[in-house]
Parts: sequence; structure tokens; C-alpha cells
Amino acid sequence: MPTISNRVDDILAGDTATQQDALAVLRAPDEDVLDLVAAVARLRRKFFSNTVKVNYLVNLKSGLCPEDCHYCSQSLGSQADILKYKWLQTDEAIEQAAAGLRGGATRVCLVSSGRGPTNRDVERVASMVGALKDEHPDVEVCACLGLLKDGQAERLRDAGVDAYNHNINTAESHHDSIVTTHTYADRVDTVTKAKAAGLSPCSGLIAGLGESDTQLVEALFALKDLDSDSIPVNFLMPFDGTPFEHTWELTPLRCLKILAMARIVCPDKEIRIAGGREMHLRSLQAQALHLANSIFLGDYLTSEGQAAEADLALIRDNGFVVLGSPEQVGPHAESHDPAIRRRGAGTAAVPNA
Ligand code: SF4
Repeated sequence: MPTISNRVDDILAGDTATQQDALAVLRAPDEDVLDLVAAVARLRRKFFSNTVKVNYLVNLKSGLCPEDCHYCSQSLGSQADILKYKWLQTDEAIEQAAAGLRGGATRVCLVSSGRGPTNRDVERVASMVGALKDEHPDVEVCACLGLLKDGQAERLRDAGVDAYNHNINTAESHHDSIVTTHTYADRVDTVTKAKAAGLSPCSGLIAGLGESDTQLVEALFALKDLDSDSIPVNFLMPFDGTPFEHTWELTPLRCLKILAMARIVCPDKEIRIAGGREMHLRSLQAQALHLANSIFLGDYLTSEGQAAEADLALIRDNGFVVLGSPEQVGPHAESHDPAIRRRGAGTAAVPNA
């Protein structure tokens, strides 16, 4: 039986991963994970060298969605105590996007809650994109506005949108247990519309929704068949007040296996560590960057991420560079001064234990 490293050799030589390969990666023993990361990282290096794409989310409209996606803090049934607001004005949206660009992002993801945009919403976003690109001609814009109707993808493309995100989220065989107000086919239809209009399709998944290993594999192969250019891999953030509030199925090692599986199935696609990175990978975020080649900077749609500077330090410290950034490794903003101990032994202050 070939090892994962043997199969990586085959894939580097032009072979494609099978579902058995993907399952073998997902089911690798925990003690083999570092070897797994080292092997699969060769694919990441071949296609993306030492670059990390840095994306920045702007939530244009938050909460109050009529759909019932059980994992989502913005769904109408969600009791999660999130920010809820209607559409940002264009100048607010530009200001938020500009902050992300100053922070090091090269792609801005303009997102709105809801089943899908009206034509008026599309015009609103089109005008934001025009204004953003006037000020920042090099920015890449991804829109994520929900299910698209005929003609909307073309209008967004004509306005300057580069990519469209709509996640399939999970396997078709698991879809109806995570949402009932739209179908898996609806989601695929929107990704297909975006691609047909010439937008770069971005579609990914959420792991940790009660799916089986074979369903995770099913989802990844569906994304491969959809030919999604970028694949956000989210790890479920179980917000209080949502049906998944007590669901906790992932470990940091499991998350690495999921990212490694995504990389061998779609070796030349942008694999993005998306929501739940800090919460689920925890101290293994660095290893994950040797598999994935893309992250979100700073905060997510309704939850806070780690400090943006910590994201950039993660990239630098591991020998990667931000894709498209003129600034290569360093200068480092971190302090180099040891923090003098003022607590624990020899003091009256509480020890760090
Ligand atoms: S359609 Fe989008 S915003 Fe609405 S509940 Fe589903 S994931 Fe959340």
C-alpha cells in the first residue's frame, strides 16, 4: 500500500488524488500528522511557493437573514448576540476595506447576509466596487451576497468584481440536515452562474457539522468538480444561540488532516484557512500554513479573530510572504525586549500558573 508521501510524489508527477487517498489522509494516526504535513507541504510549495494570500472581510449587512443555516449566527432563528445592521453606506464600506488593505490584505471580500441580493442590492454593491477600485486600482474584490439570479453575476463582473464566493458548505448528502430553506442544488447553481459570467468561483466548506469522513471527502470532490479557484475551509464556530451551539467535534490535529486532504484533492487551488482558524487550530496555526496558502486577516463576519499583526507575524515567522505585497519578510514590529518578571516567586503578585 503506497504511503501518503508516495502519493504526493505521484500527484507532483501529474496524477490526481483518489477518494481512498483523501480518506487515508483524514484517517491518518495523530502521531503521523507531522510527517503528513511535511509530505503534503511539497504540493503547497510547488503551486504557491512561499506566498500567502491575505484576504479581508467586510460585512456589508449583518444578521437578520431569513434563511435557517443552522451553523450561522446571522440566521433569523439565531439568538447569538452579534452585531446586526443594515447596509453600510459606500463611504463606510470603503473605509473598512481600506483598513484591511493597509493591514496587508490584497483581496477584499464584500459580504452581505441574506438569501440573495435584489437587483437594487447588486447596484449598491456595484457602486461600492467602483468607488473602491477608483481609490485602490490593484485591489481584488470578491463579492459574497447569497444566491444569484440570472444576470446578477454579469452585472457584478461589469462593475469590477473579480470573484464570487458561495460555499457549498457540506456534502450534498448532508446538506438538508444543516439548512432547510434552500437546497444544495441552489448553492451549486450560484457557483455555476458566477463561473459562467467570468467571475473567479470561490466555494468552500465548513468542517465539524456532524458530517462523516466520507461526507467530507464527498464535499471536497464536489468542489474539485465545480472547479472552484479558491476553497475556504471553515471550522465550525459553535455560536451560543444557534442549533450547533454545543457541537465541538474538531481537534487541531484533525483540522490539519482536513487541510491536508483539501490540498491533495485540489493541489493547485487556493486553499484558505477561514473561520475558526484560531479557535480550532490554536497552537498549530503555523503548521496549517504549510498546507493552506491563504488566510483572512483580522476579524470574521460576526466574530473577532486574533490581532491582524499576529496574522502577519504568523506568516513572517514561518518564512512566508504576503502575496502581492511589496514588503517582504520584516521589518518586524514585535518588541525584542524580554518582559521582566514581576510576578510569582520573590513577589507578592499572583504567579503565572
Ligand atoms: S444565507 Fe448566509 S447569512 Fe443567511 S443564514 Fe445562511 S449562511 Fe447565514
